[in-house]
Amino acid sequence: MSAVILKGAPVAQGLNARIAADVAELQAHGITPCLVSVQVGADDASRIYRNAQEKKAAAVGVAYRRVDLPADAREEEVAETLRTLNCDPRIHGIILQTPLPKGMNLDAMQGLIAAAKDVDGVTEANLGAVMTGRPGLYPSTALSAFELLKSTGVSLRGKEAVVIGRSAIVGKPVAMLMLNERVTVTMCHTGTQGAGMLAYHVGRAEILVVATGQPNLVPGAWVKEGAIVIDVGINEVDGAIVGDVEFVPAAERAAYITPVPGGVGPLTVTMLLRNTLLAACMQTEIERR
Ligand code: NAD
Repeated sequence: MSAVILKGAPVAQGLNARIAADVAELQAHGITPCLVSVQVGADDASRIYRNAQEKKAAAVGVAYRRVDLPADAREEEVAETLRTLNCDPRIHGIILQTPLPKGMNLDAMQGLIAAAKDVDGVTEANLGAVMTGRPGLYPSTALSAFELLKSTGVSLRGKEAVVIGRSAIVGKPVAMLMLNERVTVTMCHTGTQGAGMLAYHVGRAEILVVATGQPNLVPGAWVKEGAIVIDVGINEVDGAIVGDVEFVPAAERAAYITPVPGGVGPLTVTMLLRNTLLAACMQTEIERR
């Protein structure tokens, strides 16, 4: 195995220290950044995710609150909860945990979160910000993938990147973050696969970001020698967590590769907390260092 393994934890550690220092400075002004997690119904994966959020929030000094609504809550109740949180000046960040119960309109509910408190970057205003390169609260998973890419120290400008997965909160914003750094970006998706062109595009990618939720979609043999591979996928196969890239053979060809688990995932909560800090600064008009 020749690739450098890009683990999320060491990158998160450095960022967490900076977040904690900035939070302490805000607290000196009497402000504690506060993140609220809204959960509708119960879900095992989001229970684990919320526990991780709470633990990491405590470690950097961000206040963390949970709001739980029953699985049979009506959309109007969720909407009312979000409106109340939007108006509460003590709350700086809101995350609506997914999945929502069947039948609930995710886009409509996420759209109710005030853009200034949308620390997961799911509203149209923040997705528009990442699109234009203007300041905003960018989607935390996309930020995490991009931060790991930057942690290689490799110059990104002019590189050929391929993103597989075109979701609004992962694939598209990762592509935009790279585009804003003058990377040449190709987006691939099910249409690319249907056209039999996935192997072709992967084979010429100097940077490969995969966010599909399809276990081992990318065989290691497709990966270009010396590529940087960022695997966002989280899939459970026979009780084990695997990514979207066939790790061992890909690591033999790549220069850098993220493991799954242990790559993008651990950094995503850090980016959520960094967004909460940023949101608190913007709402209280205190400048961050
Ligand atoms: P999504 O289902 O919204 O989007 C998946 C995308 O992949 C779609 O655009 C689809 O066109 C594409 N796709 C699916 N099958 C494909 C195929 N066979 N060939 C080519 N393209 C294909 O998913 P998402 O929310 O973007 O999440 C993607 C993955 O990232 C999932 O595994 C999810 O669990 C993971 N994820 C990880 C984190 C993290 O912190 N590490 C956070 C969010 C999501």
